[in-house]
Amino acid sequence: MAKVYLSPAYHKFNPCAVAGCDETTHNNLYLDELEVFLTACGIAWKRGPRRVPNSSEDGDVLMRRAVAESDAWGAEVHYVSHTNASTNLSDGVGQGKARGYRPIIFQGSQRGERLALFMTTRRREVYDGQVSLNRRTDLYELREPRAVTYYEEHVFHDNVDDARWFHDNLRSVARSAAKGLCDYFNLPFVEPYTVADPPQEEEVPTESAPLYRVQVGAFRSRSGAEALLSQVRAAGFGGAFIATAQQ
Ligand SMILES: [Zn+2]
Repeated sequence: MAKVYLSPAYHKFNPCAVAGCDETTHNNLYLDELEVFLTACGIAWKRGPRRVPNSSEDGDVLMRRAVAESDAWGAEVHYVSHTNASTNLSDGVGQGKARGYRPIIFQGSQRGERLALFMTTRRREVYDGQVSLNRRTDLYELREPRAVTYYEEHVFHDNVDDARWFHDNLRSVARSAAKGLCDYFNLPFVEPYTVADPPQEEEVPTESAPLYRVQVGAFRSRSGAEALLSQVRAAGFGGAFIATAQQ
C-alpha cells in the first residue's frame, strides 16, 4: 500500500493575510481535506503533530519527531505542507507582493523530479498563478527523511489574493495533490464526494429517434464505478455519469 507521511507547518505564528489566521493553522486545515482524498484513493497516511499556534511548543522538536516517525513507519513520500512569505525574497519583490506556487524537492532526486512533474501538472489544473519548482539541499525536511520529500509552498500567505484563494480552495488544492500522488503511485484517483446529478435530458427519445448511449464499464461496487467515472471525466467527457440497472 502506498504510504504518505503528512507533515504540517510547525511555526509559532506566521501571520496570514486572512485576518486571525497563520501558516500553521491553514496548513492543518488543508491536511484535514487531503486526508479524505488519500483515504478514498487507498493511500495510507500518517500525520505529524498539530501545533497549537502561539503555544510554548518547540517547532524544531515537532519537526524532528515527525521525520523520525515518517522514517520508522516506512513512508514512501514525506509530504510537507507549508506556505510562503515574501519578506526575505531575493528577487526584489516587496513584502506581500509575491504570488505563486513554489514547491521544493531535494536537488538531484530523481524520485523527487518525477513526483514534482505530476504534482505541478495537477496544480496547474486548479491554480492560475505562476508555478515554479525549486531544488534545494539545505532544509532539514528535504534532506533527512528516508522517503522522497515533496515540500509544498502552496501560495504566499502574506499576499492577500494568494492567501484568500488558498482559503477558498482548500478542497480543490487537496484534490489536485491527491491526483498527483495517485499519478506517482500509479493508482486510479477516487473522488470521495458525491458527484453532481447528471443534467436532465432535453428530449424524450422515441422509437423513431433512438438515443445511442456509450457504456464504458459495469461494476458490482459503486466505488469501482466512481473510480472509472473519475478517469472518464478526467479524459474530457464531463457529461459522463453513473446509471444503475437491476439484473
Ligand atoms: Zn491562512
